[in-house]
Order: sequence, then structure tokens, then C-alpha cells
Amino acid sequence: MINRPFRIVLTEAFDDTAVEKLRTVGEVVVLDACDEARLKEAVADCDALLVRTRTAVTRSVIESATRLRVIGRGGVGLENIDVDAARQRGIAVVYTPHASTDAVADLTVGMMIALVRNIGRCDAMVRKGQFWEARGGSCTREMSELTVGIVGMGRIGQAVARRCRNGFGMTVLYNDIVSPGWLDFVSTPVSKGQLYARADVVTLHVPLTDSTRKLIDAAALNQFKKGSVLINTSRGGVVNSLALAEALEAGTLGGAALDVFEPEPLPTGHPLLLAPNTVFTPHIGSRSVAGLARMNDVVEDVVRVLQGRSPLYPAWLDEDVPIPP
Ligand code: NAD
Repeated sequence: MINRPFRIVLTEAFDDTAVEKLRTVGEVVVLDACDEARLKEAVADCDALLVRTRTAVTRSVIESATRLRVIGRGGVGLENIDVDAARQRGIAVVYTPHASTDAVADLTVGMMIALVRNIGRCDAMVRKGQFWEARGGSCTREMSELTVGIVGMGRIGQAVARRCRNGFGMTVLYNDIVSPGWLDFVSTPVSKGQLYARADVVTLHVPLTDSTRKLIDAAALNQFKKGSVLINTSRGGVVNSLALAEALEAGTLGGAALDVFEPEPLPTGHPLLLAPNTVFTPHIGSRSVAGLARMNDVVEDVVRVLQGRSPLYPAWLDEDVPIPP
């Protein structure tokens, strides 16, 4: 039997230390493009594939692989990887679920305060010489008087809730499809309808799945408390952009802060870009120095799988991907 080193393909940037770690177990190839044709060619003969956000690892790519053992995703969301196709072929998918939790929670809270205290609108008016008008038109409620409604009480939802409850004394409602278990802050589980009706701030922390695609559409927005605000730092596809623009224009929704968009980026002239009371950031939720650095940790799990050891952060937990005791 010929004993050859593993072949490891990278499609996006990983730092030098991470690449060096991979080189200890195999030959590393860095692709200069991550389109499907290039990817299919590259995975045909590789043992590990490492991607970040921009590479789409489709069923067709996965089916082109002859001896792929592991796909590593430096980041949190897995919607750019056909996890089912990988699972059917017995290919492990590993990722870095904790990498961005604090960075996204921090941004979410920043957006919350910006919306509640009119920071964006005041900033624009001050620059236009409308200092006194901005001041006169901005006397708001305090954070401790407000109720935040968290849709998706997972890692990021909990980090946001902890900041809101323990930091600002806000009332915390949440909705999830599974129980988050014991929580170290005061909060109340409610239905989505109750959450929309009662929250002053609704913030989304769900993955993009069949059950969350366009979760916030016109029907959901109609249930929101009048004047409440929406924050989306999850995935753009969770919100219907046109319905959101209409609710903002109509004034039924008091404001929206978005880090993620559908499509992303929004084309010039999109109604949402023209809607009032909005704060936008260019998908920077995970972009803290520490957060990006933590995404390189995916190489640890890639190496573990190549060496026949159990990964620490598999995309699914069952007998196909054994986890350590
Ligand atoms: P997580 O898996 O810990 O939490 C997600 C929660 O959503 C889970 O508790 C799950 O049960 C719940 N959920 C799923 N479907 C639901 C539904 N229909 N209704 C209510 N709850 C539902 O994930 P996380 O680490 O908290 O991350 C959440 C999402 O944030 C990621 O999937 C990713 O899309 C997004 N994200 C964005 C950025 C960014 O840069 N803006 C960075 C990291 C993560």
C-alpha cells in the first residue's frame, strides 16, 4: 500500500499558524478561486476541504470527492455547506460554533442602543446643521424600561439576553423551537406571536433553515407592537426585505438595524436602503480580531478527523461522528 500525505484544500484565507498546523499532517493547496467547477476539480483528490463564508460546498461538489474525509468551516452558519450530502457520504463537517458569539452579541446591543436612542438619525441631523431640531425630537425611553424579544435562544441569543438583562435591566422574552435549558438570567419563554406583540425590540438569532426563511414577513410584522424595532444579525434570508421596507415606510415599525441582507449586498435603489429609521452594517457581526482568530481553530478539528480522532465541534452529533467522552 502506498502511504502518501493527506491533501488539504483551502479556498479562503486562514492565518499562517493555522496553515502551518495543517502542513504538519499533509500537503496544503490554496485555491485562487472557489467557483463550483474549480472546487469539484480540487476536491476530486483531496482528504480535507477548509472554507469560510464565500465557498458554496454543494451536493455536486461533495459527490465529486472520492476520498474526502472532512469539511472544515471556519465560522458559525453552515448554510453554505450541504451538510446532508456530506453526512450521507460519511464525510465529517466541523466548524467553530463559539467563534463569533461575543462579537455578534456586542454588535446587536450596539444596534439596539443606536435605534432606541436615535443615534443614526441624530448623527445625520447634526452633520446637516440641525442640532436643535435633532435634540428636540429625541427624548427616548431608557433601556431598563424596555422589553427585548429574542428569537433563537442559542449561543448568540443567550449572550444578547445576558447583556440586556444583567447589563441594562431589560425584560427578556424569548422564543425557541427547543428548550435552552437552565439560563443564568431572568427571562420568559413565549410564542412568536406573544413575543412580536410584547417586545419593544425584536432581535433575530436563528440559523437560516427551511423553518426560518422569511420568518419575518408581512404577516409577522403585522403582529409587532407599534413603534417597536427589529434587529437582524443572523442571516438576511430570515427577513423579507420588501415587507420590512413597507413596514418602515408605513411607520408601523419604529426602526430596523441590519447586519445581514437578502440579497447581500442590497442593490442600489433597493426600497430598504431608502426606508426611514434604519442602521446598516456590512455583515461585520463576526468581524472582531478575536472572533476571526477563533475561526482558525477549525484546523484543530480537521486534523483530529484526519488522524482518526473525534472532532470537538461536529455539525451533528450521532454515531456517524463520534464525540469524545
Ligand atoms: P445556535 O445554533 O447556538 O442558536 C440558534 C438557535 O435558534 C437554536 O437555539 C435553535 O433551536 C433556534 N432556532 C432554530 N430555528 C428556530 C425557529 N424556527 N424558531 C425559533 N428558534 C429557532 O446559533 P448561534 O451561534 O446563536 O448563531 C445564530 C445564527 O447567527 C447563526 O446560525 C448564523 O446564521 C448567525 N451569525 C451571524 C453572524 C454575523 O456575522 N452577522 C456571525 C455568526 C453567526
